[in-house]
Amino acid sequence: MSAASTPGAPDSPVSPGGSLAGSKSAADRAAFHEFVARHGRFLLTTHINPDGDGLGSEVATAMWLAERGKTTRIVNDSILPPAFAFLARNVPFEAFEPEAAEQRLTECDAVIVLDTSNRQRIGRLAPLLDRHPIPIAVVDHHVTHARGFGQVNVIEPEASATGEILYDLIREGGGTITPAIAEALYVALMTDTGSFRYSNTDSHAHRMAADLLGHGLDPQRLHSQVHAHASAGRLRFFGEVLSGLELKSAGRLVVLDASPEQFQRHGLIGADTDGLVDLPRSIAGVEAVALFSEVEPGKVKVSLRSTGRVAIDQVCSRLGGGGHVHAAGVLLRGSRADARARILPEIERLIDALPPVDGNA
Ligand code: AMP
Ligand code: MN
Ligand code: MN
Repeated sequence: MSAASTPGAPDSPVSPGGSLAGSKSAADRAAFHEFVARHGRFLLTTHINPDGDGLGSEVATAMWLAERGKTTRIVNDSILPPAFAFLARNVPFEAFEPEAAEQRLTECDAVIVLDTSNRQRIGRLAPLLDRHPIPIAVVDHHVTHARGFGQVNVIEPEASATGEILYDLIREGGGTITPAIAEALYVALMTDTGSFRYSNTDSHAHRMAADLLGHGLDPQRLHSQVHAHASAGRLRFFGEVLSGLELKSAGRLVVLDASPEQFQRHGLIGADTDGLVDLPRSIAGVEAVALFSEVEPGKVKVSLRSTGRVAIDQVCSRLGGGGHVHAAGVLLRGSRADARARILPEIERLIDALPPVDGNA
């Protein structure tokens, strides 16, 4: 969230066109438009374990560029999760295969990286980009890597989703929001705002959603397309992990812990814990939630969430991860006990430093 959106203050003004008023990045946006105009063949990519924002942003960008007579390829390190397979009916996603990916890089003249400004998070594409010096543009909204690694970087942490930045960029560039682009951008916005519930949901996000729905989208259908792909094993895994939840800091910190054995026994693909860390936010009085997922022995994926008062992004970025002020993550080597020792005391300190909740909350 921008510094302007302090609690209780009126939301930052939105211009009639809906673009982010007072955005500091007009020059970066102009550089992005020049970047797009200058090149003809694009490779698009996003972060590992991609979510609705990364994938929806790729689809919207690919269709917008196609409208402009450009060619695009989408190459991601990770597979397309089944929940988002419906997005692939408009543009193809290629499974990562090192030689084919290298070939794709030689066939394009520019790369656009969406929804991450952390080079490590594009996975196996990163070393390929080292070998093939190629112009890169980054479009992202994470606060922790605000400098980006592209020649052009449009990084706007005030945006709820990368899709929100693209919504502005496409219209600024004279593009048409077609129903298929609207669908992809809606999926990006809906997933990154937790269906318009998280602290990044502001008036701009709602205005954008309203405009996108005007293109004939069915929000109920899109929501169930994304959220009706879980296996029974995934829910049993959630149940098991949740029943082991620990309360610390006098009930203000929730800790969840998942072992490699649990991942394996319930047949979870990859680190498919999306949504799990968000559930304990519903417990009264909780300020933060930490999930330690040992996805394979010695590899711990840490997911942190704040319910709005503690800023937890620095806890992750100091250890090489990143994210947003109220949702961040980091991958740590070692045991879950090691990971807990590196993360929990710091969050407990942050929680202890909070002023008391006033009123009758
Ligand atoms: P997660 O807990 O995986 O849902 O991630 C929460 C937020 O932190 C998302 O915006 C992620 O993009 C970001 N994030 C997660 N893991 C990392 C990491 N290792 N490095 C940088 N950002 C991360
Ligand atoms: Mn993402
Ligand atoms: Mn995002």
